[in-house]
Amino acid sequence: MKRFSSLSLRQSWLDSSRQRKLSYGALLLAGSLLFAGLGEVAPRTLRQSATALPDAQIARASEPWQVASFPVEGFQAYTSPFGYRGSGFHYGIDIASPEGSYIRSWWDGQVVEVSDDSACGTSVVVESGDWTHVYCHMQGYVTTDGGRRVFVDSGGGLQLAEGQAVTTGDRIGRVGMTGRTTGPHLHWGMRYQGEWVDPGLVLQAMADGQRRASLPQ
Ligand SMILES: [Zn+2]
Repeated sequence: MKRFSSLSLRQSWLDSSRQRKLSYGALLLAGSLLFAGLGEVAPRTLRQSATALPDAQIARASEPWQVASFPVEGFQAYTSPFGYRGSGFHYGIDIASPEGSYIRSWWDGQVVEVSDDSACGTSVVVESGDWTHVYCHMQGYVTTDGGRRVFVDSGGGLQLAEGQAVTTGDRIGRVGMTGRTTGPHLHWGMRYQGEWVDPGLVLQAMADGQRRASLPQ
């Protein structure tokens, strides 16, 4: 529960929204998602076998964000929020974790891109309905196998091909220092219908959903 706390991120978002450039599309969208309630836009889970789930799990699944996974094991700190910073707009949040910590897929989806040739470093992009989630600075590299691009992290025992399906919480990488970074962390970016949004808002919705689901009925 505590690891989902994003109060400081939310504060940072509020601070950044007071800046002049409020008209920025991403911020506006983040704001409208915040005020409309993220519950309405949670991606659906790929797993349809509700009848096979125990009652408790069905109850929890009625909280739309309850099924999402925190994106990294070994959480240490949020080190950079979404929004403007000295060098420009930061399209995601930075989560410091010890090098080698496993990264988990936030939601069921499909790997739509693996890459290792940008400032994002070795990275994986997963699409879940209207949502796209991006994981940067991972260990490993990208190669080609039978015409498909494949991310490989031998030390972590991981291999992911473009087009491959992943399940919520699947290990999809490990925290590293590839690309432009000064220390081991996960840069986690999210798009909703193509627009960047603040992943801190998503973590907030997950924490709220978890709190509601844990209340006695
Ligand atoms: Zn970052």
